[in-house]
Amino acid sequence: MSSQKRKAAITGFPVDQSRSPLVHGYWLKKHGLDGAYGRVAVPPEEAKTFFNDFKTSGLVGANVTVPHKEVAFAACDHLDEAAKAMGAANTLWLDETGALCGANTDGLGFLGNLDQLAPGWDSESRTAVVLGAGGAARAIIWALLSRGITAVHIVNRTFEKAKVLEDQFGSKTKAHPWDKLGTLLEDADLLVNTTALGMAGKAPLEINLDPLPKSALVTDIVYVPLETDLLKQAASRGNPTVDGLGMLLHQAVPGFECWFGVRPEVDDGLRALVLEDLGVKV
Ligand code: NAP
Repeated sequence: MSSQKRKAAITGFPVDQSRSPLVHGYWLKKHGLDGAYGRVAVPPEEAKTFFNDFKTSGLVGANVTVPHKEVAFAACDHLDEAAKAMGAANTLWLDETGALCGANTDGLGFLGNLDQLAPGWDSESRTAVVLGAGGAARAIIWALLSRGITAVHIVNRTFEKAKVLEDQFGSKTKAHPWDKLGTLLEDADLLVNTTALGMAGKAPLEINLDPLPKSALVTDIVYVPLETDLLKQAASRGNPTVDGLGMLLHQAVPGFECWFGVRPEVDDGLRALVLEDLGVKV
């Protein structure tokens, strides 16, 4: 590798399973760029020093995965609004002064996926029902509010966790226990599953979609399997649906653009490559 090459990497612990090198490698090749994207495993006891001294790493930027998103956040000199809302950074870069900048692109990934596969979705959606209240839900609620969605209902097994998000995001959000879901679906324009339910190897997501208007967009951020039971059920009754793979791919776009100077596209070739790597049949 030449010393001139711009290098970025996925950082975390462990990093062996990350698909980020596959995604960025695809874009580097597609655009004929002389850059590199690798893996840097940062043991937890070294994380604070690594991110505080990021400018000595030889990297122009990085993605950050578990368990270091909060440590990376704390090390940043500048943060975007999403990272501030999340208290966590998943994308880092050094600016021209050498300051460490951090962003959280999960919410942008969610929006990019819907914009690509259901263009105009946000002109129709005023009321969203979000299943789950974990880290992904936090990013998605932030993203929905940033697009002007006027009511976000957060439905979670553990009501208290949904309430924490309501308290954070304010009056356009409302926490509910799971047994209120049927009533909430009646007025929903958008239904999002952010729980791990329905993922291969996890418990199924058992939900009755009968009250949901057939015009409502249904999306699942689980992408193994690609067409989850929720999406199958929604499609079979005529609802438009969007799968979750694009969220994973679109969240990588801002970092690549920042490090390598080209805004990449999430195209069919990239989707096919990642699906093959995941062993997911379409
Ligand atoms: P998390 O912080 O651990 O939150 C998990 C959520 O799932 C919580 O709301 C939890 O409810 C709920 N849940 C888990 N098991 C449940 C069960 N048996 N019954 C009812 N609810 C249950 O995880 P996360 O980071 O938000 O990720 C959630 C899912 O999204 C994972 O499958 C992850 O792979 C996927 N994801 C996808 C993308 C993408 O790019 N497509 C990005 C991020 C995450 P409680 O609060 O009651 O425990």
